Amino acid sequence: MYEKSLIIIKPDGVQRSLVGTVINRFENAGLKIHAMKLQNVAAEQSKKHYSEHVGKAFYPTVEEYITSGPVMVFVLGGVSAIKKIRAMVGATEPASALPGTIRGDFAHQSYPAPGEPDDKPIRNLIHASATPDEAAAEIAIWFSEDELVDYDKVTDQQVSFK
Ligand code: GDP
Ligand code: MG
Repeated sequence: MYEKSLIIIKPDGVQRSLVGTVINRFENAGLKIHAMKLQNVAAEQSKKHYSEHVGKAFYPTVEEYITSGPVMVFVLGGVSAIKKIRAMVGATEPASALPGTIRGDFAHQSYPAPGEPDDKPIRNLIHASATPDEAAAEIAIWFSEDELVDYDKVTDQQVSFK
């Protein structure tokens, strides 16, 4: 099924000039860009986006991290895109993210390390929606409907090998 997912290149990704590199991976995988913008994140927006984590001990570090500089927010679409993108992004903790994933390849800077106190953010470079419900909620938080662009690419055409 065709799905849309909400992706955020977090402040460390923008600061490290990894925006093009990350987007290139998604385009190479055949995913379609439906919307994109660079913006600063207000504390209120962080609380909406991370609503499932507000109240947890580590939440203040998450908010400090996501509001620390501009982020690149975008919507990608494709067949089974949510699962595919999460596989490309890799595990939450960069130390556990496999080589070949975005976090595994680029998010070497990771605090706290497993077992260390939760007083610092896990700087893992990128966010991607985990489920269809989460994707729908997150896209609505970051984009209005008229900012989402639907279009066909030549590669969308069905190819018959018969
Ligand atoms: P994700 O979907 O892989 O990004 O992971 P989660 O939805 O579980 O967490 C959202 C974000 O909160 C993560 O990307 C981390 O930046 C941060 N985070 C999650 N768990 C922890 C934790 O145990 N400690 C700290 N400090 N940050 C965390
Ligand atoms: Mg998550």
